[in-house]
Amino acid sequence: MPKVAIAGAGLVGALNACFFAQKGWDVEVYEFRPDIRQMEHVPGRSINLALSFRGKSALEAVGLKDYIVNQGVELSARLIHDIDGETLHRQPYGQPGEHIVSINRRHLNEVMITEAEKFGNHKFNGVKFFFQHKVIKVDSRKGILLVNRIKEGDQVEVEADLILACDGAHSAVRRSLMTFPLFQFSQEYIAHGYVELNILPKNDKFALEPNVFHLWPRGDFTLIALANIDKTFTVTIFAPFELFEKEMSTEQKVVSFFKCNFPDAFELLGERHIVETFNRVRPLPLVSIKCEPHAFHGKVLLMGDAAHAMVPFYGQGMNAGFEDCLVLSELLDKFNDNIPTTLDYYSKTRCKDAHAINDLAMYNYNELKDLVNKTLYKIRKTFDLS
Ligand code: FAD
Repeated sequence: MPKVAIAGAGLVGALNACFFAQKGWDVEVYEFRPDIRQMEHVPGRSINLALSFRGKSALEAVGLKDYIVNQGVELSARLIHDIDGETLHRQPYGQPGEHIVSINRRHLNEVMITEAEKFGNHKFNGVKFFFQHKVIKVDSRKGILLVNRIKEGDQVEVEADLILACDGAHSAVRRSLMTFPLFQFSQEYIAHGYVELNILPKNDKFALEPNVFHLWPRGDFTLIALANIDKTFTVTIFAPFELFEKEMSTEQKVVSFFKCNFPDAFELLGERHIVETFNRVRPLPLVSIKCEPHAFHGKVLLMGDAAHAMVPFYGQGMNAGFEDCLVLSELLDKFNDNIPTTLDYYSKTRCKDAHAINDLAMYNYNELKDLVNKTLYKIRKTFDLS
């Protein structure tokens, strides 16, 4: 059986491991972090994510859709909160019965790693996860990954028939391919950053309606809240870095900012939690990345955020990454596991799709920013950014 080496055991790397384990390939996954199933606290991005059709289809192909969906919270509409703290506007996502699902990133990642290992146990050579192994670079001609074994303090070369770069937006594999002839690459950091907060259950119940995507659009800044299965809500504020610096830089300022702009959310978040969060964390940046090709020398493929990191305003980054896994798996079947032919075809067809969804995400970012100014909502002007 052919061997696939996967850089990164994040969402896309772990799902790829499931796909290839199912095919019976020899699978090795090299992950920089320790095993998240044993970590107390996992630092990093968004706590929960919206899983939609693309992502569900890919999970279905490895038999995980129902299990994952059952562990999430269905969201059937957007619920827009006005600045008066009382008026709500409901916008259904689709027809009755249609919904997206709010799922916990860590749980999803853990389930996929465990499932990949299980596939491996009863089939063929199996899946080996190597945690605390940092990929340094790739030799795409030879199909070799150079990996730093963090605990051992040495480096090893890993040879494989296929190398999948699923090592995220700041991919080390992609970085080492920068001089590949005609490799196109663009990266854009947007003016907005984000901070995550938390709403706790109230009397052991959800403090807000759970089955909707809560949105507090306020022109250039927005608050969102997605329910978790443990009855908490993950709340995210997206705002320009300039605004974080001007309006949320002291305890007093951040409290009055939330009180004034999100009065109903402020009550549920609580002053202490807001202050404590803003003292502890800095706003995180958001980047959009496009590149072409995604395949190199018939041996290496960029996937997920390594190929197409996008701003999160369309909720499609993970979903598109999951779709990458499904598309690759189907193409390998179509081309009888001929890796160079598959990679060539994948790159030629998938780059266009990746660029399109990336553009849609950026379009939605610009749309969301203007939405409020253009339509119903009158913003209390608490600051002047002119
Ligand atoms: P990552 O999740 O970044 O995983 C990369 C993995 O590679 C990590 O485990 C990392 O430790 C590892 N790694 C990195 N470097 C190395 C190295 N050198 N060697 C070995 N391992 C390495 N998407 C949605 O579909 N729906 C949403 O609702 C949504 N909401 C979002 C909200 C926010 C605020 C943000 C920032 C993103 C959101 N996304 C959403 C996008 C989604 O998070 C990403 O698209 C998704 O995480 C990409 O998965 P990935 O596996 O490609 O990369």
